[in-house]
Amino acid sequence: MNFKDYIRVIPDFPQPGIRFKDITTLLKDGPAYRAAIDSLKELVKEKEIDLIAGPEARGFVIGAPLAIALGVGFVPIRKSGKLPGSTVEAAYDLEYGKDRLAIHSDSIQPGQKILIADDLLATGGTIATSIDLITQLGGDIVGAAFLIELGYLSGRDKLQGIDVVSLMTY
Ligand code: IMP
Repeated sequence: MNFKDYIRVIPDFPQPGIRFKDITTLLKDGPAYRAAIDSLKELVKEKEIDLIAGPEARGFVIGAPLAIALGVGFVPIRKSGKLPGSTVEAAYDLEYGKDRLAIHSDSIQPGQKILIADDLLATGGTIATSIDLITQLGGDIVGAAFLIELGYLSGRDKLQGIDVVSLMTY
């Protein structure tokens, strides 16, 4: 399956000059969504994984079904102020803006093997911050899986030493 056929590129969203990769056109197609999750599973199935962690919101629509497919749990990474329990937090820059991410302090035990999942790797800021949070809790990052990688933003360079897999590259 050519997954790019299911991605809609929207020019000048959310700001002039950004060519936004819209994954909703893939998500609404049942066979394509399922095939995408199955393909990501194939890319990571040799890894030992205890938990998948994904940043809101699109990290949930990739990370949660991937966790079910692999038979492991899912840990949400959320914007600051959304998680009800005790959290650790970190600030970061986005491709277009700034934000703070948070994770429940008791969501990961030291030494657990964590795969990070998100829809898209752009500058790598979101995932670098997610790695920071997971590492603060003692988690051991075994890789990062994405539907899409924007190669021209070199997000991989921020993730030195992390095994990065993606289904599509632009
Ligand atoms: P990064 O932190 O610069 O790597 O940006 C990645 C985050 O921004 C992901 O969580 C994406 O959901 C979001 N993002 C950035 N650019 C796009 C895009 O073109 N399409 C969809 N999401 C995007």
